[in-house]
Amino acid sequence: MVLSMVEAIAPATSANLGAGFDVFGVALDVLFDRVLVERIVANKTIEITVDGEGAEEIPREPEKNTAGVVAKELLKLSREKCGLRIKIHKGIKPGSGLGSSAASAAAAAVAINELLGLELSQLQLIETATLGEMTSAGAPHADNVSAAILGDFIVITSRKPLEVLKLKLPPNVEFAIVSPEIKFNTSLARSVLPRKVALSSMIYNVSRAATFIAGITLNNIEIMGKGMNDMVVEPARAHLIPGLNHVKKKALDAGAAGVTISGAGPSVIALVDSKRADAEKIALTMVEAFDELGVKSRSFHAKPGPGAKVVRKE
Ligand code: ADP
Repeated sequence: MVLSMVEAIAPATSANLGAGFDVFGVALDVLFDRVLVERIVANKTIEITVDGEGAEEIPREPEKNTAGVVAKELLKLSREKCGLRIKIHKGIKPGSGLGSSAASAAAAAVAINELLGLELSQLQLIETATLGEMTSAGAPHADNVSAAILGDFIVITSRKPLEVLKLKLPPNVEFAIVSPEIKFNTSLARSVLPRKVALSSMIYNVSRAATFIAGITLNNIEIMGKGMNDMVVEPARAHLIPGLNHVKKKALDAGAAGVTISGAGPSVIALVDSKRADAEKIALTMVEAFDELGVKSRSFHAKPGPGAKVVRKE
């Protein structure tokens, strides 16, 4: 059957989780982007419309929109001489550190793969969606798109060639997330990173990342939380998020196992063991902490969730 349209959704994701910079990512079960793709039979153009959260700041030109980049790439791979109309409904605010551009890229990849009958592997879909990330972040980081496509928790084990492992997190894992409403420049958050790191920082970060993974294999959320500290990336970005240390302290005092910047920021993510603490309460504690400093914010609580999927096809 030749399809005329496919709609897919992809989840918000949180990358890094402390020391796993550009390597760790987790899919969240709360916020989603929705991408509907239709064939244009008359010509080979790519048309993009966007509505929803922060739609006004998202480029419509295919080469600047992460879903558009994916569409161009997949049309190249396909032998079909058609164009694509892409309707993006944003459920994830762009530039908040929750993988907004990655979700559009992931949902577009999954939808177009189905529409054009390409039968690409999940790794190929991740590679394609990562090209989209190059346009939004200026760096081909695959952590958000890998989590958005595969779901759960992922580790990028090799960048070239791309290899990704997916791990199930302990069943009591929950996350509390707070997104401060501040002016934030995602590309600046990448440019402030040091080009070189001291050996002592490298040792510290390798130890933290190993601790996080050890916590997963031991089903021990407290140990995972101890692994969420980072001596390289977070200190370089901390000044971009006013009140970060205050919010972190309040969340830890309220029972979070670990707290760090989500992705490039400015959202902050806390790991919670649902047997020991209440993620919703911790999220509200973080809102209060920002409030004390005069910063308005929104909060969410989430569990690790599934990856992108087709929700409708005709
Ligand atoms: P974060 O991971 O912090 O949510 P993003 O990866 O969403 O940050 O980066 C936001 C940048 O990506 C913005 O400059 C935005 O204009 C650009 N962008 C390009 N295409 C999209 C898209 N389809 N959805 C969201 N942002 C997009």
